[in-house]
Amino acid sequence: MTKSGSCHCGNVKFEVSSEPLAMKQCHCNACKRLTGTGHNVQAFFNKDDVKIKGETSTHESTSDAGNIRTRHFCPNCGSRLFAYNSAMPNVIGIPAGSFDDSSWFKPEVILYNSDRPTWDTIDKTIKTHDLM
Ligand SMILES: [Zn+2]
Ligand SMILES: [Zn+2]
Repeated sequence: MTKSGSCHCGNVKFEVSSEPLAMKQCHCNACKRLTGTGHNVQAFFNKDDVKIKGETSTHESTSDAGNIRTRHFCPNCGSRLFAYNSAMPNVIGIPAGSFDDSSWFKPEVILYNSDRPTWDTIDKTIKTHDLM
């Protein structure tokens, strides 16, 4: 089943032709700042299975593990879109909320639960880690 999505203004669109390799929810300080909310939810796919249309801007930072994280966002509306990690160059992370239909999404693991704000409640049935 092809999954489609876009940024808020529609200048950047994407299509994914495979099922996710992993689905994660993260409460680390970077994810809180980047989203402006309590957590980030991403589905990870094989990069070759994702077709992207439209220009993105990028920002790079170094993760706790020392890897380079490259994050793509729409230069027009600022929506966060794709994320890459230098440790896994063939994998692309896509925020669940940018898909047209994300009813298939369910986090398999919750990361950095120790940094989770008290107001951001979680599904207690999902496995949590205090850090990675
Ligand atoms: Zn946009
Ligand atoms: Zn995070």
